[in-house]
Amino acid sequence: MPKETKLYDLLEVSPTATEDEIKKAFRKAAVKYHPDRNPGNEEAEHKFKEINNAYEILLDKRKRQLYDQLGQEGLEAGGPPGGGFGFPGFGGGRHGPPRTEDVPFKLGVGLEDLYNGKTVRIKVTRKRTCVECLGRGTKDPKIEGGPCKTCSGQGRIVKMLRMGNMVQQMVSDCGACHGTGEAPIKPEDACTMCRGQKTLAQPKELEVNMRPGMRPGQRIVFHGEADEAPGAEAGDVVVTLVLEPEEVRARKRREPASALRPAFALMGDSLTNLVVEREIELVEALLGWSYTFEHFDGRVVTVMSPENAPTSTGDLIVVPGEGMPKVGNPTQRGDLYLKMKVRMPRDLSPDVRAQLQALLPAPAPAPAAAARPDATVVEGGVFSQAAARRLEQQQQEDEAAVQMQEEEEGRGQQGPGVQCAQA
Ligand SMILES: [Zn+2]
Ligand SMILES: [Zn+2]
Repeated sequence: MPKETKLYDLLEVSPTATEDEIKKAFRKAAVKYHPDRNPGNEEAEHKFKEINNAYEILLDKRKRQLYDQLGQEGLEAGGPPGGGFGFPGFGGGRHGPPRTEDVPFKLGVGLEDLYNGKTVRIKVTRKRTCVECLGRGTKDPKIEGGPCKTCSGQGRIVKMLRMGNMVQQMVSDCGACHGTGEAPIKPEDACTMCRGQKTLAQPKELEVNMRPGMRPGQRIVFHGEADEAPGAEAGDVVVTLVLEPEEVRARKRREPASALRPAFALMGDSLTNLVVEREIELVEALLGWSYTFEHFDGRVVTVMSPENAPTSTGDLIVVPGEGMPKVGNPTQRGDLYLKMKVRMPRDLSPDVRAQLQALLPAPAPAPAAAARPDATVVEGGVFSQAAARRLEQQQQEDEAAVQMQEEEEGRGQQGPGVQCAQA
């Protein structure tokens, strides 16, 4: 008796139902609850999805066995710890039955998604066992493919080559069965639905549930959602969350974000601390400021400057608890840092200069050494825009030089006669 019977109940079949019985029951239920027949009926739509899901699991030998033994929970976990059900005829070995290749999927996400959590549907197309022939590849269930006669089902052909005293073993894929080890199906016997391929391409939507506290680079594994193949388990679809910069997100967004929403970024390598660059006027730097912004969850937050403490360019103001949800502990949050920059006035009138001189503390007196008559005096020692441009230009030149050097090194390693020295 299986651990659970819910999937069987959905299709109204007994847990001992054959594949054909399951197929028939599915068709009946699918027609009844098909969205085309029940427009606007959400309950029917939900049921239709459940039926499809049940059908997919029960028709898959491996998944059905997992479900029978361990229930839905065991199925989601992908099998018992250590894995490897010994399926007769599946080769087996220490690592269990062969598996098809995993399919990687990169999903671009924003910090907003990782902050609030989000469900994203992704479309994948994978090969599934043909529903018509149940993976036989033949029209008639009596015509079983059986092992390939040319290679005795091995899929490979081993040839011994004698060269003088040496015997060399050559292994190649069997040409008759293209390495599958199964007897080729005659065109007239082939299943009309899959044309003897045994599998059909089937699109599927996978729901990626991002929970608050997930991190960039995190992998979400959908067990058994890669291609199915005769004699092999389906591999996994592996979704990797890739953090997209805010500019990219802004371009993709249909509606512009609120004007109060700043350009949040992660603080350095931190996964939980956020940083926002904030520019203020000189008068605010001296006398105080307040900053109001909208957070990812729509809350509006106002930060007041520290009292009676002027702000300098480069100052970091910490706003505790307004960072990202912590990885592994999403009820707690990191901090938000405001990276301050003071905008200096461009021109000061003689009048304002005089007033400032009277109001602001005088500079510290120059050390006695500065009064030496032989001191060199440099005029115009101002960090002007021209100087900034010059500095930037130099930096670009340096970067271009580094890039060119790296390219040259890259070419050298691929060039003929040059070997990578690896001990
Ligand atoms: Zn078929
Ligand atoms: Zn063969």
